[in-house]
Amino acid sequence: MLLIILLLLTMAGSAIARDWRGIVVHHSASPDWTTVEGINRWHKERGWHGIGYHYVIYTDGSVHEGRSTDKVGAHAKGRNSTHIGICLVGYNEITDEQIKALKKLVKELGLPCERHHEECPGSGVDIESLNK
Ligand SMILES: [Zn+2]
Repeated sequence: MLLIILLLLTMAGSAIARDWRGIVVHHSASPDWTTVEGINRWHKERGWHGIGYHYVIYTDGSVHEGRSTDKVGAHAKGRNSTHIGICLVGYNEITDEQIKALKKLVKELGLPCERHHEECPGSGVDIESLNK
């Protein structure tokens, strides 16, 4: 009986794993000292279940996990259940380290990426070059 329950749990677990179709890239439009914890607090204040992005890349190029990729995001209306959300900390001045880290992460995830919208992320991010 216990074995059957364990089997069912394993099956349910694999059904939860998401079938991502792409990545949406954002910028935080906040100071460069913004952290995952800060965004988490800020998104909770909006009434969401904490941070809506799956990954956050700091200005030093370090990659930080936000919401689990097992869960639907809260970052781009209409694409939250199909796209992983990556947020670059900063306004329009995204650092070379961030671009380098973003390229690496996109390659690891193996999914095509797209902008959130015309102004997000800022003009310093060439999305086309990330899909090559
Ligand atoms: Zn955005």
